[in-house]
This record gives sequence, C-alpha cells and structure tokens, in this order.
Amino acid sequence: MSTILFHANDMVKAGCNDCRGCFHCCQGMGDSIVLDPYDVWQLETNLHTTFAGLLREKVELRVEEGLILPCLAMQGEAERCGFLNEENRCGIHVFRPGLCRLFPLGRRYEEEGLSYFLLEEACVSQNHTKVKIKKWLGVPELKRYEAFLVRWHGIRKGLMERTWACAGEDEELLKQINLNLLHTFYEEQYAPKDFYGQFEERARRFEKEKRRE
Ligand code: SF4
Ligand code: SF4
Repeated sequence: MSTILFHANDMVKAGCNDCRGCFHCCQGMGDSIVLDPYDVWQLETNLHTTFAGLLREKVELRVEEGLILPCLAMQGEAERCGFLNEENRCGIHVFRPGLCRLFPLGRRYEEEGLSYFLLEEACVSQNHTKVKIKKWLGVPELKRYEAFLVRWHGIRKGLMERTWACAGEDEELLKQINLNLLHTFYEEQYAPKDFYGQFEERARRFEKEKRRE
C-alpha cells in the first residue's frame, strides 16, 4: 500500500488530546531525536546556553551513516529525555525540537519539496483527532522553516554520500567533514536574532569550504 502524503494545510488524524499524562515518546527513544541547527538555535536562545552547555547534560552526539550529529540524550535507567520534568511533561514545550513537534508524523523529501506522512501506530493514544498539520507543528513562519528543512536535508544528503565514499578509505577526510559540519552548524554560537539568515550564511560558507577540500 502506498504511503499517503500530506502538506502543511492538510488535516491528519494525529491529535492525541494533549497527551493526557502519557509521555511514552519522551523516553526510551535511543539516539533517534536528532537535532538540526534550528533546534539548537532555539535551545541556545531560550535556555541562554551554548552548544557545549547543551552537550554537558541534555544532548549527546551520535553517528548517522558516517555523519556525527547531536541528538537528545535519554538518561537514567528509565531512559528519560533530560527535558522531561517531574510532572512528566516537556519542560521546553514551547521551543521543543522539530522531531518532537512532528511526532507521530514523519517527513518525506522529494523533488517537489517536503511532505508529511502519518507514522501508523507510533503514538499509543487510542483516540486520535484530526488536526491541521500547520497547527500541529506550531512553528512560526512555516514556509521559511520548511525551506530551511529542505536545504538542510540536501546538505546532509550530500555529506552522507561523501562519508559513504570515504569511509574506510580516507578517515582523515571523514574526520574533517564531521569537524566542519559540527563547527559550522552547531558549535559556533547562534545569535538570538532571525535564524534563517544566520543559517544561510553558514550554509554558503560551508559549501565554499567543501569545494576547497
Ligand atoms: S505517544 Fe502519543 S500520547 Fe503518548 S506522549 Fe507521545 S504523542 Fe503523546
Ligand atoms: S524535548 Fe520534550 S517533547 Fe521532546 S522528548 Fe524531550 S520531553 Fe519529550
């Protein structure tokens, strides 16, 4: 059966009635909640911290197809997200990462752009309600956000192809790619102003550097 794809103005049965005491998808998620530069900008700005500060506690690094990227760290025996508070609610709900906002939806990137699909049976709630995707995500300036996601996906995809090609062949280049990626898009502190301009400037700089390698 082919996957049904949706766009931001579509209605989809993803609503879970404000989770009602459930925090199932905030624990035991391994290293799957990967953070993109927008997430890190949000966390740095709202928590008045740095990427190094995030790495000290709530965030860790993971390797995905040769690329090193940050993700939320699951902590303790119960493997709880470090942002889950004592009431078992998200302590950073207003600025939570994009993948947390998205759940139980997934993203698909195609030539025509970004679309969404429902991760069937991912959410344990029994009574899902219909919600407009745009409202579900609750991200300001959604068109700019989606354009950023597509651009970021393209950068990641291009890098993954390179890391595949040099894995086991050129470990020094692999290391350099990861150092540049982490430094340019994560370690370099974001200013608490419009994100998208900062990201685009870094993306251009990164691509220029890449051409030199
Ligand atoms: S599994 Fe569903 S109901 Fe439970 S916390 Fe996640 S989104 Fe909410
Ligand atoms: S950031 Fe919030 S929504 Fe995301 S996993 Fe952690 S507690 Fe859950």
